[in-house]
Order: sequence, then structure tokens, then C-alpha cells
Amino acid sequence: MTTAHTGADEAAAAAAPEPADIDTAARRLAYLTVGLPTLGFAAAVVWAVTYGFSWIDATLLLFFYVVTSLGVEGGFHRFFSHKSFSAGPVVTSLWGIAGSMAAQGPVLFWVATHRQHHAFTDKDGDPHSPRPLGTGFKGKVRGFWHGHVGWLFVVQRQNWSKRVPDLVRDRLVMRLNQYYFLWVLGGLLLPALLGLALSGGDPKAATSGFLWGGLARIFLLDHVTWGVNSVGHLIGNRPYRTRDNSRNFAPLAAFSVGGSWHNNHHARPALAHNRHGLWQIDPTGAFIRALDRVGLVSDARYPDRERIKEKGARR
Ligand SMILES: [Zn+2]
Ligand SMILES: [Zn+2]
Repeated sequence: MTTAHTGADEAAAAAAPEPADIDTAARRLAYLTVGLPTLGFAAAVVWAVTYGFSWIDATLLLFFYVVTSLGVEGGFHRFFSHKSFSAGPVVTSLWGIAGSMAAQGPVLFWVATHRQHHAFTDKDGDPHSPRPLGTGFKGKVRGFWHGHVGWLFVVQRQNWSKRVPDLVRDRLVMRLNQYYFLWVLGGLLLPALLGLALSGGDPKAATSGFLWGGLARIFLLDHVTWGVNSVGHLIGNRPYRTRDNSRNFAPLAAFSVGGSWHNNHHARPALAHNRHGLWQIDPTGAFIRALDRVGLVSDARYPDRERIKEKGARR
């Protein structure tokens, strides 16, 4: 499958801006975003080898992974980026906080880069297309690395707010954005406190909770979310003939809580549910539907079975 790019050199030029064009604040944040969880994951592994891995560690890792993965996919992605359903202020805040706790950047940054991705998917201007950067195998590896994580370090300086005018006008969302570091800190301290409480006051369990429920959990979800950006535009099937290279990558479906049905998503980005086939599991879509049933969200857009059968959706 070929991508729609016009040449590797142009792709390289688009993906690797001049140093003067790089947003230095975003770059600094990238060192924290990528560096700390990586060190934390390594520390968690060393800690587990030394002191073991308890049921409390497993529970905290799973619980905070589920909360933050839904926060990213249901909140940052389907709600804030695509407005695929509506919610009141309390539920909006919970989506925003849960997504922020994933430590993938503040909501405005996340949504702005994601909307940029949809506007220029796999073309010049896409912030994280994994198109080859150069020729041969090396070019492919460079392109993959850029699409996966490298792009965070070369985000171009631009007026992000023009991509998120709706969010900038929303005082609640601005507040959620402003307190980003507080939510991230909460996502690190809460598992530590829960570790302490569940173990009956063992400081080792608090450290372990901080490492597994906090930093290692951030690291694991980071690579799953970024994997949808990179692998999700390289490997997998394309039931919809979208004008990009998006793919449905089934092995990541559970871990990405439904985000890796990425070709489905690019074909119908405004839907609250990514499941376009009986066997395609989409925990985020199921969760949104459950919230819809009890009246906590409304106006959710679900796949229309007849249109999906046509399999001809184009963006
Ligand atoms: Zn995509
Ligand atoms: Zn999207």
C-alpha cells in the first residue's frame, strides 16, 4: 500500500523542521513526557525483581491503566477532539482529568495535534505520520520512529489555538488545561496512597504503587497510544478506502481500548463507537454507550449499520 506523499525528501523536510521553527516549550515537555515514564518503567522492573510484584501492584497498574486509557480514548480523543457525544460539566471534568492523568500533554495540545493529524493525515503537515524519512530500510525505521515518538521533539511552532477555538472558548476546558500538572501529579500520588492504604501502611507498597500504578502505567499507555499513530498507519487491514494510510490493527484493540480500529476511525471520525464489525471489541465505545444509557452523556453518534455495510465511506 502506498502512501499519498510526494517524495521522501519533502516528507523529511516537513517532518524535520528547522531548529528555529521547533516549539521549544513543547520540546521541553517532550523530554519530561518521554523521559520520566521510561526511567520509571525501568525502576519499576528493578523494584519488582528486588521486592516482587504483588496483587496490589497488579491491581493499581490495571485500575489506573483502565481509567487513563478511557480518559485518553474516550475523553481527549472522542469527546474533546471529535465531539462525538455531549456531556455536562462534571462528566466533562472527569474525562479531562482522567485523560490528563495519562501525562501525554495537556488537553489543548493533545487535541490540537490530533486535529492537525486528521486535517493532513499522512501528508505534509501531519505531525506524526510514520511515512519513510529517506530511502531504504533506514528511512522506514526513521519514519516509524518519528511517527511513534520522535515527532514530540519537533513539534512546529504555530498558533495551536486556531485548531481548538471551541475549547479555548470553554472556560471549564481552559481550567482543566491550566491545571494539567496537578492532574499528572494526582495520577502519580493516588496509586502511591492507595498502595499504602491497601497494604495497611507499608511504605514499600506505596513506592511500588507509585512506580507501577504511576510511572510504568504512563509508559505502557504512552506506547500503546503512540502505537496507534505509528503502527496504525503501517500495519493492518483497510476495510475503508480512506485517502490516508490508516489501518485496523487488531492486536492493539484491547490495550488501546478500541482506538486501534484506526481505519474505521479515519473513515468515520465523528463516531463515538469504533466497532464496525461483530468481533471488533471497542471498550471505549461500550463505556460511552453505558454512560449514554444512564444519562451521563448524550447525543452520542453510533455507527449506522447500513452505511457501514457499504464499506465505501470516504472522508
Ligand atoms: Zn491516524
Ligand atoms: Zn481522531
